[in-house]
Amino acid sequence: MKVSEDIKKINLDEEFRVCPQCSYELGFHSSFLRSEKGYRIILICPDCGARYDVGWRM
Ligand SMILES: [Zn+2]
Repeated sequence: MKVSEDIKKINLDEEFRVCPQCSYELGFHSSFLRSEKGYRIILICPDCGARYDVGWRM
């Protein structure tokens, strides 16, 4: 399984549960990526490893 380095920006709609890349339907893992102003919350598809930025910051 190859983990893609690029992080796709996602605009949250009603629900973000299905991976746009591989159609995995059971939701995402999360990780925290350090940025200039704290951390970005990154969602990771457990199946294909695609990473998504939904705009959450902490
Ligand atoms: Zn996926």
